[in-house]
Amino acid sequence: MEISKIHHPVLSAKGNEMDMLRLDLIHPAVSGNKWFKLKYNIEQAKAENKNTLLSFGGAYSNHLHALAYAGKLYGFQTIGMVRGESVNNKTLEDCIAWGMQINFLSREDYRNKNEDSFTASLIEKYPQAFIIPEGGNNQYGIRGCSEILEGTDLLQYDVIVCSVGTGATLSGIINASDPRNRVLGFTAVKNGGYLAAEIAKNTEHDNWQLCTDYHFGGFAGKNETLLNFMKDFYDSQSIELDFVYNAKMMYGLFDMIQQNRLPARVKILVIHTGGLQGNRSLM
Ligand SMILES: *Cc1c(COP(=O)(O)O)cnc(C)c1O
Repeated sequence: MEISKIHHPVLSAKGNEMDMLRLDLIHPAVSGNKWFKLKYNIEQAKAENKNTLLSFGGAYSNHLHALAYAGKLYGFQTIGMVRGESVNNKTLEDCIAWGMQINFLSREDYRNKNEDSFTASLIEKYPQAFIIPEGGNNQYGIRGCSEILEGTDLLQYDVIVCSVGTGATLSGIINASDPRNRVLGFTAVKNGGYLAAEIAKNTEHDNWQLCTDYHFGGFAGKNETLLNFMKDFYDSQSIELDFVYNAKMMYGLFDMIQQNRLPARVKILVIHTGGLQGNRSLM
């Protein structure tokens, strides 16, 4: 996988070095970590002889976007259960063009989507569907994400950094890390500390920590500071960041470096998890 060197005054001021692992370049439609999260889910769906993939997400979901494309590629029908009222946007337009059936769920139903009774009703309605949880956050997703670091020489890095939604990606990274790496996860939701318990359950090392201060008001929250940071980062690096995950992570990481909340003279690997299709909601 491609690695970009990041040169920036914030890094050189403290003698730090940074590499960025470019999952955003994996595929134009299925960019980033979603590719890894779907891999073993699709294998399992095949093993169970299912012909349909069903999952959940918001109206700008990178996960549903990737699922729709992967379904088309691997010959599955796809069903996307979307949170909230019926809307139309570029993300869902793509999903529909790739053959996904979109069903909108009220916010209340969406909250109850993991209840046994709701799952039972889905299985009855769609017996041929393999049900993947929101964000691909299950054992198959985590297993796929443990392959993100394959081929990377881990011991040259002191710190490995990744953004966190459900925590599946970070869990895979932690499991693949060397105990000598320190792994930092930047949560994209408000009060993301609750994610630590589940990540701990799904991982085998304790060399990690969550940074929960850089959510910018909550999931998909944004302000001028964040948008200006994205623009400056693009101007200096020619690398686009998505505003939901990677811009918050990079902003937070630079801020922690400037505040000496990270040791100086370390080598950092940041994982760009993609998600750029979601930036179309900024237009
Ligand atoms: C889904 C997503 C994440 C979060 O992944 P989790 O495994 O849910 O923590 C991070 N970055 C991008 C771009 C994503 O689309």
